[in-house]
Amino acid sequence: MTENPNSYDIIIIGAGPAGMTAAVYCARGGAKTLVFGGIAPGGQLLMTTEIENFPGFPKPVAGPDLMQNMLNQAKRLGAEVIHEEAADVKFDKKPYEITSAGENSFYCKAVIIASGARARWLNLESEQKFIGKGVSACATCDGAFFRNKEVCVIGGGDTAAEDAVFLTKFAARVYLIHRRDKLRTAYRLQERLKNPKIELVYDSVLEQVMGDKKVSGVKIKNVKTGQIREIPAQGVFIAIGHEPETKLFRDSLKTDEKGYILTDGKTRTSIEGVFAAGDVADPLYKQAVIASGTGCMAALEALKYIENTTT
Ligand code: NAP
Repeated sequence: MTENPNSYDIIIIGAGPAGMTAAVYCARGGAKTLVFGGIAPGGQLLMTTEIENFPGFPKPVAGPDLMQNMLNQAKRLGAEVIHEEAADVKFDKKPYEITSAGENSFYCKAVIIASGARARWLNLESEQKFIGKGVSACATCDGAFFRNKEVCVIGGGDTAAEDAVFLTKFAARVYLIHRRDKLRTAYRLQERLKNPKIELVYDSVLEQVMGDKKVSGVKIKNVKTGQIREIPAQGVFIAIGHEPETKLFRDSLKTDEKGYILTDGKTRTSIEGVFAAGDVADPLYKQAVIASGTGCMAALEALKYIENTTT
């Protein structure tokens, strides 16, 4: 009997640092490996500019360059990468079945979920109304549209600070609006915020994005004084963190209350032969290097699993 060409030893869902590192290890370990990479393999690092904390790069490396290198490395070692999303998974019988958005079915002995996380929204009505018309969750993607304009960034973490610094390349003025009086940003990034184009606005929350067809400004409220301030701005970047990309798995795998996949510390999920790595199972650190590390762990566990099972 000829083997189904859509049968693999290990299928990896996601092509960020976790998925790509897993692919390198699985392929190098001799497993027939397929990666669901989505339309643009690379994950969240495709949306970052300079990465200066991934070991091995004495000079900052651009996120897309780092991911292209990982992709090339995984392919050179024999991993196959398809430019499709996974649309459905069946973990109730073996071999496990994964159906692509193009409705092709693929089968495997083990699965590594490395689907990462996506940006969160505030879910204000006015924010949702202006998405794509001045409101964005990706400064790297949309920053260049705001040349010589005024923009706001909402958030107080590394993403917000990085976005604010990046946007000074284009915008005339950048307001970084944070709900508390202290950023949670790393020291070096805080230093880079000392830029004459950036105004830090503390203790303030976004009340409303204003505009007619396009954004014209924001209304913010000082949470300590209750005072309302209007800031003219053509762009609003929401950078308030991420949520795990787990909607495909919530019915079959155990997750925490926020949707992060629960693992046993060795990347093993509640279903044997299904492993999770990277931000999808990491509510705490969310660093590329940790995603790579857990991707490696998942690959080693998956290789051991397929070696010890007969299906
Ligand atoms: P984050 O660290 O979770 O920060 C989210 C920020 O948004 C916090 O300041 C939070 O405020 C604020 N926030 C959350 N919900 C909000 C709401 N409803 N309204 C207003 N503000 C809200 O998320 P992140 O900045 O995206 O970073 C995620 C992870 O990626 C972190 O571990 C970070 O270190 C990492 N990262 C690293 C780099 C880098 O190293 N180059 C770059 C980007 C991200 P509070 O402070 O009050 O909680």
